[in-house]
Amino acid sequence: MTGQKTKSHSTPHRPSQGNRDFRNRTKRDGKHSGERQTTPYNAPKPLTGNAAVQPAIILKVGREKSLLRRHPWVFSGAIERVDGAPASGGTLAVRDASENFLAWASYNASSQITARVWSWHEEEAIGVEFFRSRISNALAVRNPQPRRERGDKPFSLRGKGWEGGGGGIEKGGARLIHAESDGLPGLVVDRYGDALVMQIGSAGAERWRDTCADILQDLCNPACIYERSDSDSRELEGLEPRNGVLRGALPENVEVVEHGLRFKVDVVAGQKTGFYLDQRDNRALTETLARDKDVLNCFCYTGGFSLYALRGGAKSVLSIDASGDALRIAAENLATNNLDAARAEWLKADVFQALRKLRDQGRSFDFIILDPPKFAPTAAFAEKAARGYKDINLLGFKLLRPGGLLATYSCSGGISEDMFQKIIAGAALDAGVDAQIVHHLHASADHPVLLSFPEGAYLKGLVLRVGPQGG
Ligand code: SAH
Repeated sequence: MTGQKTKSHSTPHRPSQGNRDFRNRTKRDGKHSGERQTTPYNAPKPLTGNAAVQPAIILKVGREKSLLRRHPWVFSGAIERVDGAPASGGTLAVRDASENFLAWASYNASSQITARVWSWHEEEAIGVEFFRSRISNALAVRNPQPRRERGDKPFSLRGKGWEGGGGGIEKGGARLIHAESDGLPGLVVDRYGDALVMQIGSAGAERWRDTCADILQDLCNPACIYERSDSDSRELEGLEPRNGVLRGALPENVEVVEHGLRFKVDVVAGQKTGFYLDQRDNRALTETLARDKDVLNCFCYTGGFSLYALRGGAKSVLSIDASGDALRIAAENLATNNLDAARAEWLKADVFQALRKLRDQGRSFDFIILDPPKFAPTAAFAEKAARGYKDINLLGFKLLRPGGLLATYSCSGGISEDMFQKIIAGAALDAGVDAQIVHHLHASADHPVLLSFPEGAYLKGLVLRVGPQGG
């Protein structure tokens, strides 16, 4: 139950000034308002619900277990009642059935994930200093250089030492904030050169958008902070799509240099925040596996894996994607990097159909890459997603020559690593091939996974080698 049932012993609504409970609340929230007066940052107003009690979620008996293991989500089904009148995105306490404090969390009555934990510490105030500290920590682990080598701003994007930048420091791409795994549920920040792209996926992060943008502007000194809050998952949170400049001005050309390869990033209309930073290390691995091979890259987007394969000496690379815009940028990227266009073929098609067509034409490849979009955003879609993964992987195995390699990925949060491996095993069996796993793959190190939050490990991949007898 997420309805705002009033606690049986709570006082009725009264004018706030004369209300004792309200005074208690402002006292605690006073930390926030105090910060607002002494800081240049743009912080939201404290909760203004007019209920007589401090907003809190009280869990059903026994439903505190996942929080005690520090999993940061509270599902609607675990909630006994909601006290007070919390605003969407507002901070409230999460308490067990005996009303012991468990966490401070942001509230969203419109989501199945009704609360997302900011902090496990009752003494911690969820205000500007909290966000500054969490953001600084996330930046520090990705930019371990001492401050004097980084220029005037603590984490200036113009400084040296950013991890995950690959080739050019100035133009590096990196995920700077990885949501729950960096202690900031719903907030993703990607760096592309000196532009930052922010993606907000929760009501809580939405409420602190301006604060976080101010902090990032202050700490990183980017030319632009652009908001790409238009992912499908926002719908599940009851949030409207948003897409636009938050700070500064968007440079005309946004580019990342990754292991010396240049990629144009379409921050405004590209997918996710414009580029798939999570595959950086796996793309680099592809380069080492591609020499003299006929490569098929399915779901190629702006040509990431294709360009690495070409630079790695592939004999030919056929790349397929359904998006004409992505393919246009891919062809541009190929030219920018002076790679041999004669070895590259681009095909705008639905991969499910294209694979069947290639099979019917009797085509075969030495190395196939399958990096599809998210088939299962949540576990509820897992079964349908499993059929999709099995289908493309089965076809992939059938198109491989004896001894060939299949690099296959899933970025579905709703499909575990174990489940993914089982799906691939089923596909190999049905295709009639024996296959060995040669690599277990994950997202790059700038996408860390909080141990207590396995959902953070959304990207998993396998490189498989089929037996010399093939299929
Ligand atoms: N491997 C890429 C990222 C792939 S993202 C990289 O390293 O950058 C998934 C891609 O799949 C997107 O470009 C999207 O346009 C494409 N896509 C989604 N559904 C598709 C379909 N049914 N057929 C072909 N492409 C599809």
